[in-house]
Amino acid sequence: MIRAVKGMRDILPPATGIWNFAETTAYSVFRAYNYQEIRTPILEETALFARGVGAETDIVGKEMYTFEDRDGSSLTLRPEATASVMRAYIEHRLDQLPGVKKLYYIGPMFRRERQQKGRYRQFYQIGGEAIGSESPLVDAEVIEMSVEILTRCGLENFQLLINSVGCPNCRPAFVELLRQKLSELAPKMCVDCQRRAVTNPLRVLDCKVPDDQPIIETLPSILDHLDSACAEHFHTVRGVLDHRGIVYEVRPRLVRGLDYYMRTTFEITHSGLGSQNTVLAGGRYDGLAESIGSKVPAPGVGFSMGEDRLVMSVEGTLAQTAEALVIVTFTAGEATRNAALSAAGQLRQAGIRVEVSEGKLKKVFETANKLNARLAVICGENEVAAGTVSLKDLAKQEQWTAPSGELLEQVKKCLNK
Ligand SMILES: [Zn+2]
Ligand SMILES: [Zn+2]
Repeated sequence: MIRAVKGMRDILPPATGIWNFAETTAYSVFRAYNYQEIRTPILEETALFARGVGAETDIVGKEMYTFEDRDGSSLTLRPEATASVMRAYIEHRLDQLPGVKKLYYIGPMFRRERQQKGRYRQFYQIGGEAIGSESPLVDAEVIEMSVEILTRCGLENFQLLINSVGCPNCRPAFVELLRQKLSELAPKMCVDCQRRAVTNPLRVLDCKVPDDQPIIETLPSILDHLDSACAEHFHTVRGVLDHRGIVYEVRPRLVRGLDYYMRTTFEITHSGLGSQNTVLAGGRYDGLAESIGSKVPAPGVGFSMGEDRLVMSVEGTLAQTAEALVIVTFTAGEATRNAALSAAGQLRQAGIRVEVSEGKLKKVFETANKLNARLAVICGENEVAAGTVSLKDLAKQEQWTAPSGELLEQVKKCLNK
């Protein structure tokens, strides 16, 4: 038997209903903030991610699905979408469009990660990018919008963490300071930190190894080393969030290991997911365009959220949101069949979820029960002859008869109860 590839999975009904709900919710929030969809190819030239994500990252170093195409070129299944969005932005000169370019995407990403619970090698991200402005108002709006998506999806008790990672003007001095402190401390830390202390000292700050935490606590905070422009930018982001009533916590250790990230970084965590608790991460990436070869600057800020994790977190609370199902059934002959098909057609046009089922009533009710149907509409010979339909509320086990002309009204009344 052929099975799904290891680390990849089929997403089946009824779970797909929750995926649809999460995506529909995201679409409507994006629309409210004037974002438009961008769809980029799943395959890109490998060089895009090597430069745009960073050759030294785990993603590019160990986790990408990279292969040689038949013409010898190196292609990669996208491990994330920001680099692709920026490539499209540059390639199609979207900088020439007016205003801030606000783009969103929803789709699969691919990383050959170590197997662990809740991690898939094909996973889904919902993300937004606002490109073309350095204004802190845009950072705050992106944060507000991402909080709005999670809230409307029904996620509760999540925590928003924010920080500023400075800019090419103020960060190098801070990194140098870290490097000095770490030359002494790193030998007492984990192997990864020992390596990062040399290659990328900033990343020591987000080490998750418990034994390293007391040492990390003693390291200097980047917030004490921002230049005045970065401090002012962060101050405004915080001011807008405060004004909008968005609760956050400043986490000076929240950093990104890549040079093009600057100023605002943020993350949303949710305790329901155990140790894999980041649902969403984002930040400003003003240097990304240049790092993938653009001559035109394209300052941007964006976020991406793990749809797999979001769905996992809200699954329990959303189980009952499925729309009610109506079973339309007929007993024998062409006249009852036609009456049933007309009834089903009328209800479907009104947006009601309908299944047509033929056969003995007892059997039909058994099936209806298994399908969790809410209501049955019965078109029997007697009903058809009298110009009526019978309705049965399957939850209450009540049955009554109504003129066929009142079908839609009666069904709506019953479903709204
Ligand atoms: Zn700065
Ligand atoms: Zn460490």
